[in-house]
Amino acid sequence: MTDNSTIIKLTAAEIAAKIASGELTAVQVTEAHLARIDAVDEKVHAFLHVDREGALAQARAVDAKKAAGEKLGPLAGVPLALKDIFTTKDMPTTVGSKILEGWIPPYDATLTKKLKAADVVILGKTNMDEFAMGSSTENSAYGPTGNPWDLTRIPGGSGGGSSAALASYEAPLAIGTDTGGSIRQPAAVTGTVGVKPTYGGVSRYGMVAFSSSLDQGGPCARTVLDAALLHEVIAGHDPMDSTSIDAPVPPVVEAARSGSVEGMRIGVVKQFAGEGYQAGVVQRFNESVELLKSLGATIVELDCPSFDLALSAYYLIAPSECSSNLARFDAMRYGLRVGDDGTRSAEDVTALTREAGFGDEVKRRVILGTYALSSGYYDAYYGSAQKVRTLITQDFERAFEQGSGVDVIVSPTTPTTAFSIGERADDPMAMYLADLCTIPTNLAGNSAMSLPCGLAPEDGLPVGLQIIAPAMKDDRLYKVGAAVEAAFVEKWGHPLLEEAPSL
Ligand code: GLN
Repeated sequence: MTDNSTIIKLTAAEIAAKIASGELTAVQVTEAHLARIDAVDEKVHAFLHVDREGALAQARAVDAKKAAGEKLGPLAGVPLALKDIFTTKDMPTTVGSKILEGWIPPYDATLTKKLKAADVVILGKTNMDEFAMGSSTENSAYGPTGNPWDLTRIPGGSGGGSSAALASYEAPLAIGTDTGGSIRQPAAVTGTVGVKPTYGGVSRYGMVAFSSSLDQGGPCARTVLDAALLHEVIAGHDPMDSTSIDAPVPPVVEAARSGSVEGMRIGVVKQFAGEGYQAGVVQRFNESVELLKSLGATIVELDCPSFDLALSAYYLIAPSECSSNLARFDAMRYGLRVGDDGTRSAEDVTALTREAGFGDEVKRRVILGTYALSSGYYDAYYGSAQKVRTLITQDFERAFEQGSGVDVIVSPTTPTTAFSIGERADDPMAMYLADLCTIPTNLAGNSAMSLPCGLAPEDGLPVGLQIIAPAMKDDRLYKVGAAVEAAFVEKWGHPLLEEAPSL
């Protein structure tokens, strides 16, 4: 009989194997994780909603399939924490905002449907910055999430609930979304693995829109293989999403099972360094580069001058698209309605509702975006930002050029380790800097991963290594990631999370 404390430490691959062999039941695994949530989530606050009954019903269905001799999928019975940005017809979907408090969507997102079809057990919905705007989860209307390494620190954002659920062993798998870094930055600061797939690789249908040309859902896990198994389940063409790529999913699982960097050319971008980078982050990154060399890779220094403009371009494009996307929250269609007492006009009700329902950061971006798109300023702001976006894409294209170029690029995922809750809450510019290294990939639409590469000596907190691959070459992330992970586990003697202080 395997006890709960052992079950919650298993990887998704191990859980699936044990359920398939009959060593564990899906109900046992789900109960172990629900008990863990009961024990620690009051402190961590990773979840906004836990669907105890739904999760157990799904687990029972898996056990019934197994008993009936049906073939189980590769993640059947494995629990998962779902970011509260994907619609779920049996659970509320708030996007971390008061404006959607209590809203139960009439349909499941494509990603939700795929998880259910794969017999993944959805434990509940995770906390996030309101409308995925932020890098700390402090912008959630429902209060912040703590980093399991140190509860006074941020777990990253916007997907801090998902990363914290993994690092606190409340779930072995989670889902995030990455518009400017919200999968990778939370992974980096919690010592977990997160992947932003190629834009269009995972359907956006039923994923509440923030900045549609940048938003991308993706897998979060504690190991590279687990992320690959989840990637394969959620990816693929969806006719319900007009930007979904109609091509085979890159062979991510195969790549994760055959990690190697032997003979690869790996780029280090000179722009991802300098002022604002914490010494311990730089140290761990440099050691990772040495490790890659020792594993047989050739390191190539790259100059990508347009990357210096990425943050500025992002903070015009993302607010512009959000100002348009969030116009649908008009008090008529969904969620909150304020001041509808029979005396006010529809316009006044809309205004009162948006005033009460949106938080400060969302309002800041709607105002910024509306301004950047307004006639007379459009070319100067939005138009220029789109030109910079093209230059960034060209920098990547040159770097990855066939023949002379590199196979992947590596960088620190974030300039610093997890900062303290409250430290940057009143300083939006300082908050925006958390995504310095992740944003170029969103603007260009290619794929990237963050995985742990050690603890910063000065504060003992996790550091993330970012791996960046060309569009539709997501498998390279897993090939390199698996090799790096295996080398680190050998060096440290265990996965990094083993060192996390217990809650
Ligand atoms: N931190 C960035 C922002 O606030 C990115 C967020 C995201 O990827 N969703 O916009």
